[in-house]
Amino acid sequence: MDISFEQRMQEAAQLPRIYFDHAATTAPRPEVIQVVMSVLQDFYGNPSSFYKEGHKAARILEESRALIANGLHVLPEEIFFTSCGTEADNWAIKGVAHARQGKGRHLITSKIEHHAVLHTMEALEKEGFEVTYLDVDETGLVDPEAVRQAIRPDTILVSIIMANNEIGTIQPIQEIGQVCDDAHVLFHSDAVQALGAVPVHPHDLKCDLMSFSGHKLYAPKGIGVLYKRKGLRIERLMDGGAQERRQRGGTENVAYAAALSKAFQLALETLDEEAQRQTRLRDRLIKGVIERVPHTKLNGHSVRRLPNNANFSFEFIEGESILLLLDTLGYACSSGSACTSASLDPSHVLLGIGMPAEIAHGSLRLSIGRETMDQDIDRFLVDIPLVIHRLREMSPLYDDYVKGKLSCLIPPEGGIDVKITGSYGL
Ligand SMILES: *Cc1c(COP(=O)(O)O)cnc(C)c1O
Repeated sequence: MDISFEQRMQEAAQLPRIYFDHAATTAPRPEVIQVVMSVLQDFYGNPSSFYKEGHKAARILEESRALIANGLHVLPEEIFFTSCGTEADNWAIKGVAHARQGKGRHLITSKIEHHAVLHTMEALEKEGFEVTYLDVDETGLVDPEAVRQAIRPDTILVSIIMANNEIGTIQPIQEIGQVCDDAHVLFHSDAVQALGAVPVHPHDLKCDLMSFSGHKLYAPKGIGVLYKRKGLRIERLMDGGAQERRQRGGTENVAYAAALSKAFQLALETLDEEAQRQTRLRDRLIKGVIERVPHTKLNGHSVRRLPNNANFSFEFIEGESILLLLDTLGYACSSGSACTSASLDPSHVLLGIGMPAEIAHGSLRLSIGRETMDQDIDRFLVDIPLVIHRLREMSPLYDDYVKGKLSCLIPPEGGIDVKITGSYGL
């Protein structure tokens, strides 16, 4: 014991960096990079062209589509390639809103969606649509009964994120899908964080539309997928050529479509064992941090949570300064989602689960991945108490607390009873 922060900083310079931000993006797997290279080299034709080079590229595209469909247990004609997860979310939501506005102009979502959904909803409000933003409980769960009660005769779409990108909470998607089905309302789910991490089967989950993104499952940035139930008509987002069954103009990114398909195949090959392995590491991390650092709580659900997600609040200090010190000790982490970390407002997700802004400011998201090993967790558990102790020493709030002028919001022993479940609750 009695290791100093300075000593660890010097040691860190000789050690490999540890990447704990897989919810922001992942490093493409070598097999995936290989696929990209070979498609770029050997299948450069335009899939719409009527000669051999075109046909060869079209075959790669359709094989990729079929493999993705197979992994999701859906039909190839239900799979549409997009430029990213954000485009898939925009297309699903605006596409339904614009196609169905004759039936009604009311949509339902939750307060803890990704900005790709929330800002799309806000854009529709400016066009005159009405949006209900459902509350979630303190673990981040949407109540299917609340969805049922929010549905009105003019409701045209419900959109609920499958697994939250900040706190990892996995929603009861099938139950919500059943509620929508009973009410004959379309259901979309942003499953970007779920794909490749937990089983995702849109038909079983009763989803009409589902969004995915390549770079969250070890494929490159700049490729996404929209699952759209067969027969469902929505408006186009991208006008142009006849690509993607005339529903999404733009020459297809064949190499990245193949990359996403490959990454998904690889993920499926080891889905259960990898989910179990990461859940075990995650729970070691959660238990270790809560035990070693006083006035710390776990955010999100203790059971229904992504195998790779841990999100903590450390009282009396700021998330940004935690990131900075952890960076100097060799760690890449996040204090919210990468999209919000540029602003100093507390995350809408943490506020959405009812957290006071003071505590939300001191939050840290650690998202582990395929490369994470026990020794990475061991190293982190040595460093995190040093970082938090150092920041609290400089914190006027902590000083007030120690002098008895301020009471704490998170008790010294931690705010959540951490159950080690060895499961991701599905
Ligand atoms: C990353 C992410 C997106 C956006 O995907 P991009 O491909 O980066 O546009 C949407 N939703 C969730 C939940 C995400 O984590």
